[in-house]
Amino acid sequence: RAKAAGRNTVRVYEASMDAAIEDRIQLEFELREAVLRHDLTLHYQPVVDLATDTVSGFEALMRWSHPTRGMIPPSTFIEIAEETGLIVDLGKWALREACREAASWPQPARIAVNVSAMQFREPGLEQNVIMALSASGLAADRLELEITESVLIQDTEAVIGCLHRLRYIGVRIALDDFGTGYSSLSYLRQFPFDKIKIDRSFIREIADPDTAAIVRSIVGLGERRGTTITAEGVETSAQLDLVRAEGCNEVQGFYFSRPVPARDVPDLFIRLSRAEKAA
Ligand code: C2E
Ligand code: MG
Ligand code: MG
Ligand code: MG
Repeated sequence: RAKAAGRNTVRVYEASMDAAIEDRIQLEFELREAVLRHDLTLHYQPVVDLATDTVSGFEALMRWSHPTRGMIPPSTFIEIAEETGLIVDLGKWALREACREAASWPQPARIAVNVSAMQFREPGLEQNVIMALSASGLAADRLELEITESVLIQDTEAVIGCLHRLRYIGVRIALDDFGTGYSSLSYLRQFPFDKIKIDRSFIREIADPDTAAIVRSIVGLGERRGTTITAEGVETSAQLDLVRAEGCNEVQGFYFSRPVPARDVPDLFIRLSRAEKAA
C-alpha cells in the first residue's frame, strides 16, 4: 500500500513537473514573440532626494503586457530571458526606450536602467549605451546603470574596465540590491560605484537596531567615498523617518509611488513636489 501511494506520488510529481516545464517553454516562446510585437513597456518609479525633497530620477522597470495574461511582472520573465539569452535584446531595447522617454520629461531627472550580467558578457554594451544616448540626445550624466553583484563575480578585470569606460563618458553606475549577495564588502573596494542601493529587505527591518546600525555603516562608507546611498522599498512614513535619520541620501518605494507608465511621469513630478512642501 505504501508502495502504491509512493508510486502515485511520483506520478503526480512528474505530471506537475511536465506541466511546469511546458509552461516555461510556452512562456519563452511568447516572450520571443513579445519582443517582436513590442508588447514590452517600461514603467517608471520615482527616486526622491532627501536633501532637497525633490524627485532626482526614475528607475525604468520592465513590464510585459501580455495579450491574454495581462501585465506580467519581471519576476516571472527576467529569469527566463536571462537563461535563454533574450535579455541581451531586451536590455538593448530598454536602454534605448528609457533614454528616449527620459529625454522628453518636463524636468531634467536621472533615468536608471537595470543591466543584467549577461549584457556584460556579450560584446556591445558600451556601444549600445552610446547609441541610446546619441539617438535620444540625453546627456550621459543623466543615465545610470544598475548592476547587481552577479555582474561582479564574472570576469572581474573585463567588468572593471567596462565600468571605468562607462563612467569616463559620464554614465553613472549603481550597485543594486546591496546586501543580498555574498562577500559584498570586498566588491565595494574593487569597483567604482556612484551609488549604492540598499536592498529593501534591510529597509523592511530598519526598526531593528542592528539593521539600523548596518544601514548607518553603509551611509558612513558612502560619505567617505562620495557614494550616494539610496534606500529601496520604503513603504511607510515610519521607514522614511528612520532612513532619513540614518543619513540615507535618497529614497525609493511604494510610500512615494509605485512604478507608473511613462504617461504618468509628468504628474508625478508635480504631485511629489507638492506632497513634500505640504509635509
Ligand atoms: P530592482 O531593480 O531591485 O527593482 C526594484 C523592484 O522593487 C521593482 O520590482 C519595484 O517595483 C519593487 N519595489 C519598489 N518599491 C517597492 C516597495 O516599496 N515595496 C516593495 N515590496 N517593492 C518595491 P519589479 O518592477 O517587479 O522588478 C523586479 C526586478 O526585475 C528588478 O529589481 C530587476 O532586478 C528586474 N528588472 C526589472 N526591469 C528590468 C530590466 O529592464 N532589465 C533587467 N535586467 N532587469 C530588470
Ligand atoms: Mg534596480
Ligand atoms: Mg533593487
Ligand atoms: Mg531586485
